[in-house]
Order: sequence, then C-alpha cells, then structure tokens
Amino acid sequence: MKIVFATNNKNKISEVQSLIPQNIKLLSLEDIGCFEDIPETQSTIEGNAKQKANYIKERYGIDCFADDTGLEVDALNGEPGVYSARYAGEQKNAADNMAKLLSYLKNKNNRNAQFKTVIALNFNNGLKTFTGICKGEITMEKRGGKGFGYDPIFKPLGHEQTFAQMDLSLKNEIGHRGKAILKLITFLNEYVR
Ligand code: IMP
Repeated sequence: MKIVFATNNKNKISEVQSLIPQNIKLLSLEDIGCFEDIPETQSTIEGNAKQKANYIKERYGIDCFADDTGLEVDALNGEPGVYSARYAGEQKNAADNMAKLLSYLKNKNNRNAQFKTVIALNFNNGLKTFTGICKGEITMEKRGGKGFGYDPIFKPLGHEQTFAQMDLSLKNEIGHRGKAILKLITFLNEYVR
C-alpha cells in the first residue's frame, strides 16, 4: 500500500517510514510528480492540513497525509496561528516574524503560548485528523541557535531551555509535531496490517 506524505523533506519521510508497518510505502510529493504549490487558503491550521491532504487525493488518486503547524499566543488571541510562516510578511522570514512577535508582547505579562500541529489523513475515502500540542511561553529575547522558525523564543513548559537550545531528540519527544506523528503512527499500526 502506498501513502503520500505531502512533503519533500526526506528526513521527515524516512523518520515516519521507519515507524509504520512495512507494507506501507511512503511517497514524497516529488515521488508522485507534484511540483506545484499546494493551496493553503483556509483560516485554520486544521483547515489547511485537510485542504492539502484532500488536494493530493483528488488530483493524484493516492491516499495522503499532510501536516500544518502554527504558534498560538494567548495574549494575541491565538495569533499568529495559521499565519505563523508569513506573520511579518510574504518573505516568510523567521527573524522578522520573531521580532514582530517580541515587539507585540513587549508590555504583556501573559506570555503563554502553544505550538499546534494537525496532521490530516485522507485514507480509505475517509478523513481523519491527529493533533499534537506543546504548551510553553515566549521568552523575552532569543536564545539558542538550533531548530528553525520561532524555536529561539519558545520555551516549553517544564523546561529551562528554548527549543533552539535543545537537542532535536528532546524537541521531537516533547514537541507538537512529534506528538501528532505518534498519533498517526499508532492509527496506522492499528488499522493497516
Ligand atoms: P509548517 O506548517 O510546518 O510549514 O509551519 C508553519 C510555520 O510555523 C513555520 O514557517 C514556522 O514559522 C512555524 N513553525 C512550525 N513548526 C515549528 C517548530 O517546530 N518550531 C518553530 N517554528 C515552527
């Protein structure tokens, strides 16, 4: 059985491939000849994940899962959320995004935030979603050089380091994406043999 993971990130593909039943072969977007920009025009993280998984299933006829992630900040009513990648503009620059967020939080006492990943799986003509959440807070300034996106200013609950100071293995264990992937893998191991 073949399932598309709507990404071209080979590391993500091989990581998930090693954790699911051997009779499922994961295909990347490149593997199916999908080189166009997949629309992400919905107003929620869930909506975008579903839109991407459905797009691939409809156009290419293969079961598919797709993920979408956002950072939700309490004091900003859940923003940047679905706009996380392009918070400071279409250039999608992480430094610009962090600078904007830090300036908006300058005078706020409540710095609570969470990362949310939703994976949508279009499988056997049904659509399922798997959500992973990591709660934490936005630091006063950037710390650490690892990771990507908002990692230097996000400190997960119960930890002193930001995501950008942590080993990737720990980030994967406690992080939003790892949790959502674990739910997906559990589902696939249970229902596909
Ligand atoms: P995507 O849906 O995985 O492309 O994520 C959308 C945006 O959310 C990214 O461009 C980043 O700005 C941010 N983001 C997603 N995951 C992470 C993460 O693990 N750490 C920091 N920022 C992230």
